[in-house]
Amino acid sequence: STPFFDAVIIGAGAAGLFCAAQAGQRGLKVLLVDHAEKVAEKIRISGGGRCNFTNRDLDPRAPQRHFLGQNPQFCRSALSRYTPQDFIALVQRHGIAFHEKHKGQLFADRSAEGIISMLLAECADGRVQRWQPCGVKKIVFSAPDAQGTGSSSYQIDTDRGPAQARSLVVATGGLSIPKIGASDFGYRIARQFGLPLVQQRPGLVPLTFDGADWAPYARLAGLALPVEIGTGAGKERMVFHEDLLFTHRGLSGPAVLQISSYWQDGAPLDIDLAPGIDLPAALAQAKARSRKRVANELATLVPARLADAWAGTDADWQRPINEASDKALARLAAQLARWRLTPTGTEGYRKAEVTLGGVDTHALSQQTMECRAQPGLYFIGEVVDITGWLGGYNFQWAWSSAHACAQALPMD
Ligand code: FAD
Repeated sequence: STPFFDAVIIGAGAAGLFCAAQAGQRGLKVLLVDHAEKVAEKIRISGGGRCNFTNRDLDPRAPQRHFLGQNPQFCRSALSRYTPQDFIALVQRHGIAFHEKHKGQLFADRSAEGIISMLLAECADGRVQRWQPCGVKKIVFSAPDAQGTGSSSYQIDTDRGPAQARSLVVATGGLSIPKIGASDFGYRIARQFGLPLVQQRPGLVPLTFDGADWAPYARLAGLALPVEIGTGAGKERMVFHEDLLFTHRGLSGPAVLQISSYWQDGAPLDIDLAPGIDLPAALAQAKARSRKRVANELATLVPARLADAWAGTDADWQRPINEASDKALARLAAQLARWRLTPTGTEGYRKAEVTLGGVDTHALSQQTMECRAQPGLYFIGEVVDITGWLGGYNFQWAWSSAHACAQALPMD
C-alpha cells in the first residue's frame, strides 16, 4: 500500500534539507525526494567550495536592503524568527569552524562539506527518509470528501513508487546551473495549482558585451580591481563598492554579480575605476613635475594593465604627461571615473548563482509559506520570488523560509 507521510518535501538542497530536519525533529514523518545523483550539490560548490552560509549584517527588520523581489518585506517574518545568529549557533553546536571574510560574510574554514554533513545529521535526528536519486512524475491533490471527513492530501508518483502526504513542500530551487540538477519543476507545480509566477531571469551573473565593442578590453581578462559600480536613476539607482573582474567576454567579480541582479536589459552601467582617488588633481600634479609617459603616471593610480590599455586607446595620451594637454588629461580622468557601458546580456543560467523571480509572494503566507488558495502546499527557498545579495543572504533565506514552514506543518 502507498506509504503515508505528514510531509513530502521535493528538493534536497539547502531549504529542503533544513525543513525536513526541523519538521522531523518536531515528530513529523517526513520524506525528502530529489532527482539529483548527489545530495546538496549547490551547497558543495557554493562560496568557492567554502559555503558562505549566512551574513552577520542581515537586518530582518529591513529586508529590502539585501533582498530583491516584488515584495521584499515578505521575508521579514521568517528572517526575524530564524536569524543568522540562530544558524551560527547551529554551526557552532556542530563544531564547524568558520570565519568572516568581509562585509559580514561567514564561510566555513575547511569546506562546504561540513555544512552538508551537519544538515544530514540533523535530518537523521529527525528520522527523515530520503529517496535520492528519485524523479517525481506526477502530483495529484485530493480534497476532503463531500462529508468533510478526513483531510486533504497529496499523492506523489515517483520513480520509486507512490507516496501520500498531508502536506507537500516544494524546495526545488531556481534555474541556475542546470548541469547539477536545477529544473523548472517548482514553477510547473505552481502552474498546476494556478499560482501566479513572477518572470524568472538569471541573477548574480557575469555580464557580456558585444564582441567588437569588447575587443579593446578583452586583453584585460584576469585583471581585478576595486570599483564603484552603479545602474539605474533616481529611486531605482543602485551602487556597489566591490571588486570587478575583467573576462574575455565581459565583466564579472562581486561588483558585477551584485549589480547584475538590478540591471535592466538595455540599461547602461557606470563604473568608477579609481574610486576614492581625485584623478583630475593627481594627473595635474603629475603633469607639473614629471616627464614620464601618461600611462606610467596613471599606473601609480590604477593597476598598470588598466593604465596601459586605457592610455593606449587615444593618441593624446601616448606621450609624456608634461606634453599632454589639460583637456586630454581631464578627458582621461573623466572616462576612468565614469566609464559608461551597456551590457548586451548575461552569461545566463549556466553561470548565474541565483534565479530572480519565481512563485509570487502574494500567493503565500509569510508566516508559514503555505499557499493561501491551496491548503497543504508550501514553497520555500529560491523557488519563491525572493532573491538575496551575494554574501550569504540566499542561504539565510533558504534556512529561514524552511524554518517557518517546518514550524507550521501540521501533524496527525
Ligand atoms: P537548491 O539548493 O538549489 O536545491 C534544490 C534541489 O531541488 C536540488 O537538490 C535539486 O536537485 C532539486 N530538484 C530540482 N528539480 C527537481 C525535480 N524536478 N525533482 C526532484 N528534485 C529536484 N548562496 C549563498 O548564500 N552563499 C553562497 O556562498 C552561495 N554560493 C553559490 C555558488 C554557486 C556557484 C551557486 C550556483 C549558487 C550559490 N549560492 C550561494 C546560492 C544558493 O546556493 C542558493 O540560493 C540555495 O542553494 C537555494 O536553496 P534551495 O534549497 O532553494 O535550492
